[in-house]
Amino acid sequence: MRSILGMVLTAILIRAQTPEMALIQSAAGALGGLDRIRTVKTLVIEGAGTNPNVGQNRNPDDPLPDWKVTEYKKTIDLAAGRMRIQQHRQAEFAFSMANDVRQNMVLDGDTAFNVDASGKAVRAPQAAVRDRRIEMLANPVAILRAALDPGARLSHFRTEAKLQLVDVTTAQGDELTLAIDATTHLPASVRWLSSSDNLGDIHNETFFQDYETVSGLQLPKHYLTKIDFRNYTTADIHVSKNIVDGDAGNLAAPADVRAAAPPPPPTFKVNPVHVADGVWWLQSTGNHSSAMYEFADHLTMFEAPASAAQAHALFDAARAAVPSKPLTEIIISHHHFDHTGGLRTVVAEGLTIISHMDNEQFFRELAARPATLHPDDLAKHPMPLKFRGVGERAVLKDSAMEVDLYQLKDNIHSGLMLVAWVPRYRFLSQSDMFDAYWYRFLWTDNYFANLDRLHLHFDKDLPVHGRIMTYDEEYAIVQKYKKSPDDYSAAAMRFCAYGAPCSGFPARQNKDAAR
Ligand SMILES: [Zn+2]
Ligand SMILES: [Zn+2]
Repeated sequence: MRSILGMVLTAILIRAQTPEMALIQSAAGALGGLDRIRTVKTLVIEGAGTNPNVGQNRNPDDPLPDWKVTEYKKTIDLAAGRMRIQQHRQAEFAFSMANDVRQNMVLDGDTAFNVDASGKAVRAPQAAVRDRRIEMLANPVAILRAALDPGARLSHFRTEAKLQLVDVTTAQGDELTLAIDATTHLPASVRWLSSSDNLGDIHNETFFQDYETVSGLQLPKHYLTKIDFRNYTTADIHVSKNIVDGDAGNLAAPADVRAAAPPPPPTFKVNPVHVADGVWWLQSTGNHSSAMYEFADHLTMFEAPASAAQAHALFDAARAAVPSKPLTEIIISHHHFDHTGGLRTVVAEGLTIISHMDNEQFFRELAARPATLHPDDLAKHPMPLKFRGVGERAVLKDSAMEVDLYQLKDNIHSGLMLVAWVPRYRFLSQSDMFDAYWYRFLWTDNYFANLDRLHLHFDKDLPVHGRIMTYDEEYAIVQKYKKSPDDYSAAAMRFCAYGAPCSGFPARQNKDAAR
């Protein structure tokens, strides 16, 4: 009978003999040697760069606006399986919400948490655990350590131009592909799959570039992350300092954070407000609502925003409010990702999208993407995209209802923005043009100028963000803001106090602090 030791040795030899393990070992050799890789305790990476803001450019084909990352620090405690990313981001684009944000995001084993400016730690949603584990592995030392773990599985050795590739399933079950430069044997990139409601499957790749020697290790001075949608860059970080085995600080989750349940994914409650005969405002929890119009034989909604879950909640509310007519059309105001999170659900439901004609190509790209990681409505129920393109003006009209659509001109937030107008009641619906809870009103003069040009001095605005308001209310808030912009946050809170519930205000203020 073979000894246990003999079986273990055989297993190690079999592992060592595979082309996959040979590749990992050659990379470990190039990076500083197997022993050096195995004895690293901590890595601290300091630098700066950009986080391009996918889905928020002015027009679909424009360059992406950037969050400038003025300070970046990634701390990896390899032995303990902990990581912290601290970054200071400033919006390099017109933004009405918090545009100067400090993030402090930590992973400790299966617990992800965020630390606010006061030092208070709050548990992050469970989805952040995998995201952050992969962010930890988007580092040449960390991915090699994970690949060398006896619990990891290596498979599918292959070559691709000047690269040698291996698939790594880590002991935690994360699947990544490691690419090794066939000449230098240094890790060239890691690839992994993620998903979103807008894009379905997302193929991500972080490239390791400009290696330098630090404490007997080769470490990149440049991390560049790209996705397969339009080959966008999502992060571009230049390293100013690589520190090996420096002080990682305390990255352990506090006991109360570990004991707390992670916040559940958002669910949406919709309150159908019957504003006038044939017109509804579908007031939703979260940051987005919709308007709905009753035509003679069908219903048309203005916006199916944010996410598949919210689109479902809005569709259910629309159908419950007017069960006698089918919902057939959704007006999508502009292409921004918080307004197209429901687009794939709209397509799967067979509804016609009405939007500016120059959005069509972009929307077709969103709808054509597979969703295998988390199969969504469209993956489960493929349907062709039905699109009705609109230019500067369109009239939706039958015996029961008229809704006019207008394109706003020269707006810096979106060049293809559509607003809806119900002439019978002088009702407007708009997205992102005005919200009383904003910190600043950077394109509101253009909004009012467009309303003047189009003679749309509304009695009521049934908006996507915020609550129903009159023209005079919106105008007064902006004039007040112009007089004392610094004082504006407090003014907005006071405004909420005598208006509708303003529960969204603090949550939105913090939204950018936690990914
Ligand atoms: Zn927008
Ligand atoms: Zn918006």
